[in-house]
Amino acid sequence: MVLALRSITMTTSNTAPPSSLEALDLKGHLTVHDISQCATDFGNLRHLPPSAVLHPAAVSDISAVIKHVFRLGPRSELTVAARGRGHSLHGQAQAPGGVVVRMESLRAPEMRVLAAGGLPCIDVSGGELWIDVLMESLKHGLAPKSWTDYLHLTVGGTLSNAGISGQAFRNGPQISNVREMEIVTGKGEVVNCSTEVHADLFYAVLGGLGQFGIITRARIDLEPAPKMVKWMRVLYSDFSSLAQDQELLVSAEKTFDYIEGFVIINKTGLLNHWRSSSSFKPKNPVQADSFDSDGKTLFCLEIAKYFNPEETDTMNKEVESLLCKLSYIPSTLFETEVSYLEFLDRVHVSELKLRSIGLWEVPHPWLNLLIPRTRICDFAAGVFGKIVSDSNDGPILLYPASKSKWDNRTSAVIPDEEVFYLVAFLSSAPASDAGSLELALRKNDRILEFCWKEGIQMKQYLPHYTRLDEWKAHFGAGWEKFEHRKRIYDPLAILAPGQRIFHKDM
Ligand code: FAD
Repeated sequence: MVLALRSITMTTSNTAPPSSLEALDLKGHLTVHDISQCATDFGNLRHLPPSAVLHPAAVSDISAVIKHVFRLGPRSELTVAARGRGHSLHGQAQAPGGVVVRMESLRAPEMRVLAAGGLPCIDVSGGELWIDVLMESLKHGLAPKSWTDYLHLTVGGTLSNAGISGQAFRNGPQISNVREMEIVTGKGEVVNCSTEVHADLFYAVLGGLGQFGIITRARIDLEPAPKMVKWMRVLYSDFSSLAQDQELLVSAEKTFDYIEGFVIINKTGLLNHWRSSSSFKPKNPVQADSFDSDGKTLFCLEIAKYFNPEETDTMNKEVESLLCKLSYIPSTLFETEVSYLEFLDRVHVSELKLRSIGLWEVPHPWLNLLIPRTRICDFAAGVFGKIVSDSNDGPILLYPASKSKWDNRTSAVIPDEEVFYLVAFLSSAPASDAGSLELALRKNDRILEFCWKEGIQMKQYLPHYTRLDEWKAHFGAGWEKFEHRKRIYDPLAILAPGQRIFHKDM
């Protein structure tokens, strides 16, 4: 019963795009052939088909379609959603009965590395994948500064959320590393914006959940790319020691370049699994052999230090001196050295494995929370090993970020404390595992309920709400500004209807 309510599917029998759209003079084309692809996403919980799909060949195509829908006025039900690669979880890139814009078709501008104001940056299309941005930048010995764990996401898609990973404590999220953008607003206007020109639109769009415009170009900051990465994992048996060490590391001047962590609950043969399925090797193999993870709740700190081969000795000394300050279980230090590209593209390796066994395109009832530092121990005590009694249905990530690296003029919503934690429950629910989707959804509900009952002022990352009062609570004091910006940039609520914040008859 609950499933029927939470997983929504609609079918369509459209054979042609709405006739009013067909009359538009476009450089690209509108189709109905890939409607079913655009009615699904990574979450695999919501399947609402559009009435047409736009493959734009130029920014003017996106502008023409939005202008047309805008002219039809509030009584037309047509809406428009940009689709990056559809890695959303709850239909956020879907446009039921509307037009989905497949951003990968927009090949302009061609990627171009340049030095603006003396600092390196790259101009890319909003539909570009981060992996391709990385590959292009590396040709110049450069790379973007801030990442997501998975790089086969689009620039426009992650900038509409925030884009966070283990580098965010140092460089801020991806939305803190953009210099300018070209946007097509909800009126179809094409606007170039930056911190100086049309700054309000610039900040509105960053973390704006696609509500204010479609990002057709972004200028991303770059820095010199290292060649190699020393990548390490260590385990803790209690949460407070992990949190203490993570916080020590994120606040230190000299520290690692990447700091993440995860929670492991009741995993059999964990260290053997690390050894056999990855390039990680134990620093002390004999001691590692005697470590038993069965039935335990363990906390892993994952850290990385970037280096170039000629700096290996200095890097090793720095790593040693940092590790000395930490209080992990000594026998559990595992390490490896990989290329920078291999490190950044690490999740793609898991994707290929999961695809090969049919476990990628399954429902993903993920829950991503941002928890204030002062309540993270309460959260851990109530959730890990209690509401969540094993981590076998997917990883649980946990790492701190620093508010001072986020710009409060953007639309992104974070807790009101200098340090807050991302806690990501990344569950998979294959059909072969009967009842697993329902179990995961129920577990998510219990976690949210726990936060609510305990008064933990968390914020959802990649938020999913269905009611206006929930959205208002999510934005808190920022709601008025968010709504005001919507009225300015997308007054008919045409854009990104799948977020379910505003409705066309607003
Ligand atoms: P879509 O899902 O297609 O779109 C997302 C939203 O943005 C939709 O509302 C859409 O309409 C809108 N949108 C898309 N393109 C544009 C555009 N050009 N202009 C304006 N609006 C647009 N996130 C992190 O921050 N850190 C991570 O480490 C991380 N890891 C992930 C790992 C995996 C395996 C997956 C599946 C997702 C991960 N994400 C992570 C989440 C990711 O940021 C979101 O899924 C995001 O939606 C990007 O996916 P996408 O590019 O396919 O965008």
